[in-house]
Amino acid sequence: MTFDVETVRKDFPILSTKMRGRDLVYLDSAASSQKPEAVISAISDFYSAHYANIHRGVYQLSAEATQRYEDVRSLVARFIGAPDPREIIFVRNATEAINLVARTWGEQQIGNGDEIVLTTMEHHANIVPWQMLAERQGASIRVAAVTDDGVLDLEHLKRLLGPRTKLLAVTAVSNALGTINPINTLTSLARDRGITTLVDGAQAAPHQSVDVKALGCDFYVLSGHKVFGPSGAGVLYGRLPLLESMPPFLGGGDMIESVSFEGTTFAPVPQKFEAGTPDIASVIGFGAAIEYLEAIGMDQISAYEQTLLTYATERLLKIPGLRIIGTAKEKAAVISFVLEDAHPHDIGTILDGEGIAIRAGHHCAQPLMKRMGVPATARASFSFYNTRDDVDSLVEALRKTQEIFA
Ligand code: PLP
Repeated sequence: MTFDVETVRKDFPILSTKMRGRDLVYLDSAASSQKPEAVISAISDFYSAHYANIHRGVYQLSAEATQRYEDVRSLVARFIGAPDPREIIFVRNATEAINLVARTWGEQQIGNGDEIVLTTMEHHANIVPWQMLAERQGASIRVAAVTDDGVLDLEHLKRLLGPRTKLLAVTAVSNALGTINPINTLTSLARDRGITTLVDGAQAAPHQSVDVKALGCDFYVLSGHKVFGPSGAGVLYGRLPLLESMPPFLGGGDMIESVSFEGTTFAPVPQKFEAGTPDIASVIGFGAAIEYLEAIGMDQISAYEQTLLTYATERLLKIPGLRIIGTAKEKAAVISFVLEDAHPHDIGTILDGEGIAIRAGHHCAQPLMKRMGVPATARASFSFYNTRDDVDSLVEALRKTQEIFA
């Protein structure tokens, strides 16, 4: 099947709505992606005809809901190349997945004087939980530099990996710049030194196929809402032996084997990490999103988005006074930019008046903004449902913005 953006667009009801009297141009998929009809109807169908709590009912409806939920676990495992569905833990989002690892593996493995290596281009979600952990445990954070182009400085990172380094936690794709990091190289550097790796895949999974086995990472996290699923379902992948050796995260129902006031024993992985009633319908919806993406093919999606990125970059660079922040060779379809004389928030507001949704601000990456020498940027992030027309609308609106500030 050849990729046809116009056919794809029909699958996303919101894309045919109007915004401020114009066709909506949605360029904020890095914050959260839009949802295809397949996802919306899977959720509605689940609530209309199949809903019950999971893992506990003896009746058929609950058994079926459990089966559907567990089927999604297998689907996710296949989607990201995890060898065993038990390696997939459902959480709310990437943030929760990182906090889970920090609270469990981190508290078990990281002690006084140990080091955690991060990069300057991490999202706050991959900084703050480690800072909190380091403070609790007496460990320290070391930060790998990025170049002026927004590329990870590998030589600097190598120098940071020392005998006290216990963890390398790194994003696969920068949400603020679009830079794609060489994850295979990083995991192999870490493996050679006995260092555990966590890959933040929140911005990679929507754009490229993921194979955690081939990446060679120990943990991988993602948010379903950025991968065309509903909000409320995210994923922590962990290698099985690691997950099995980790203490539980939250305590409560569903994560136990037996409870008495003398003591509690815990359920095996993955239940050990899924206390309480999860967001069942969101997991079901996420499953529908994966099936939808697999039908199109992540490779087709990547290839299409790369052509769109090239087109958008070329057009934007022709706007006088516009500077792209983040010019790595390897980029996902994300363009951060600043415009002479116009503050990013003003750009965002003016574009909103034209029905164009972009993000403006620090993108939850304040250390990176500081490194790049800007307080904030405007960010257009593209998905496979965006078109050249969307890019043209953006360019036209930016030219108008410039006239206003001229
Ligand atoms: N990591 C990266 C690279 C992100 O871009 C984001 C969100 O923008 C997150 C983590 C956190 O995702 P969530 O808010 O879904 O937990």
